[in-house]
Amino acid sequence: MRVAIAGAGLAGLSCAKYLTDAGHTPIVLESRDVLGGLVAAWKDSDGDWYETGLHAFFGAYPNMLQLLKELGIEDRLQWKEHTLIFNQPDKPGTLSRFDVPDIPSPFNVIASILRNKDMLTWEQKIRFAVGLLPAVVRGQKYVEDMDKYSFLEWLKRQGVDERVTSDVFIAACKALTFINPDEVSATILLTALNRFLQERYGSKIAFLDGSPTERLCSPIVDDITERGGEVRLNAPLKEILLNADGTVKGYLIRGLNGAEDEVITADSYVSAMSVDPLKVMLPKPWKLMEFFQKLEGLEGVPVINLHLWFDRKLTEIDHLLFSRSPLLSVYADMSNTCREYANPNRSMLELVLAPAKDWIAKSDEEIVAATIAELEKLFPDHFGGDNPATLLKSHVVKTPRSVYKATPGRQQYRPAQVTPIANFYLAGSYTMQRYLGSMEGAVLSGKLTAQAISEALPVANSSNLQTLTRPPATNAATA
Ligand SMILES: Cc1cc2nc3c(=O)[nH]c(=O)nc-3n(C[C@H](O)[C@H](O)[C@H](O)COP(=O)(O)OP(=O)(O)OC[C@H]3O[C@@H](n4cnc5c(N)ncnc54)[C@H](O)[C@@H]3O)c2cc1C
Repeated sequence: MRVAIAGAGLAGLSCAKYLTDAGHTPIVLESRDVLGGLVAAWKDSDGDWYETGLHAFFGAYPNMLQLLKELGIEDRLQWKEHTLIFNQPDKPGTLSRFDVPDIPSPFNVIASILRNKDMLTWEQKIRFAVGLLPAVVRGQKYVEDMDKYSFLEWLKRQGVDERVTSDVFIAACKALTFINPDEVSATILLTALNRFLQERYGSKIAFLDGSPTERLCSPIVDDITERGGEVRLNAPLKEILLNADGTVKGYLIRGLNGAEDEVITADSYVSAMSVDPLKVMLPKPWKLMEFFQKLEGLEGVPVINLHLWFDRKLTEIDHLLFSRSPLLSVYADMSNTCREYANPNRSMLELVLAPAKDWIAKSDEEIVAATIAELEKLFPDHFGGDNPATLLKSHVVKTPRSVYKATPGRQQYRPAQVTPIANFYLAGSYTMQRYLGSMEGAVLSGKLTAQAISEALPVANSSNLQTLTRPPATNAATA
């Protein structure tokens, strides 16, 4: 069966890969000239890579790890020591570590918290552990119910004091969702914490050994095309064309550089676009349907990714770092963490600036200057004194609408992959799946979509194509 997929982010590519596995023929149509969506990367004129986002992979990403294994590229993940490392703003230039011992979960994570002497007092540790108990004991249902609270509200209700928030969770919230604990839904943090507590290597971090476009997306494309599928760049979906019964008749693709628009037809259609362009693209009759109206409850959150090349080594740390800076979220010295970006003499810091709503409209120069001012606190030895580190060059990548903004109450707006339209499906990390707005969530959503299509259109029986509108889909079906 031929399936047209709009969007070559990880969700669209994963969907196409798993459709190909099931014997279907996907055609992926990507609007930009680069693969990967939010993991897209580019090479500058010096041959240096810069990326949409600093991406960390976790042990608790079973679908991503399975995908890499199926593609035979799991060795491209460079696993780091099992630890979480935080800067200490009150002691500039020093770090605090949560070293996770190699013992079964959840004792490994508990031991890492108990052994950390810098960031939490015994009383705070005990209060936090007690506060977490309902999430551990009552499981995902309790976690989902907590979507009505912000994480800060949830912490207060559990009697956990504010210092825990400022010391640990501002950093964690910014890293996971690009917003602060007073804005983020409690469900998000509790979901992540549960995964980390339940899986021995869940919180272990890996970096890809090069750019996501070449080292992750290209092999997926090769896998799809070698088996008859197609992936087209510069092919923006302009309009979803409908049949009289409201099902999809075709995808109208905008012709670029004077070329004619083109209609692509298929047996089934998938939107693997992020939620913001999808909302704009919805055909009028669909806008009257509750399923699609709910998408109005979701929108992408702004975030900025910076790359700073320096004339010297600022650190030898080969890991992700939580900056605990008001301006920045996580960062890494990619000259240490990533094989293809390695440089023994010079640092290339990749940093995520979040929350970014007040910065997204500012100039690159202003953003870089504010970041350097923060680095003076993170690396005081290299920026004070007579011979401060010199910035050689920088790249700033702004994403005004990235993953959906995970504020309280959003879970109810996240759609299932199966829509009420018989031949139209959704994929994307914003759709309902248990791994939040992440690479794992994107890969899982694509897989779920492929499974749903394969169930509706078994390859051996192509005449099975339904053209009637389905009954409304529910989220519960897919989680
Ligand atoms: C700064 C940053 C850091 C991040 N860090 C992490 C991390 O450390 N770990 C982690 O797991 N996740 C991280 N993420 C999140 C992760 O990148 C995303 O959740 C995931 O890549 C989303 O994939 P997707 O396929 O759902 O959506 P997208 O990547 O948004 O893909 C949608 C695609 O649709 C295309 N499209 C849009 N309109 C059209 C159209 N009209 N026609 C055709 N195509 C169209 C877009 O160009 C895009 O390629 C980070 C994201 C950012 C921005």
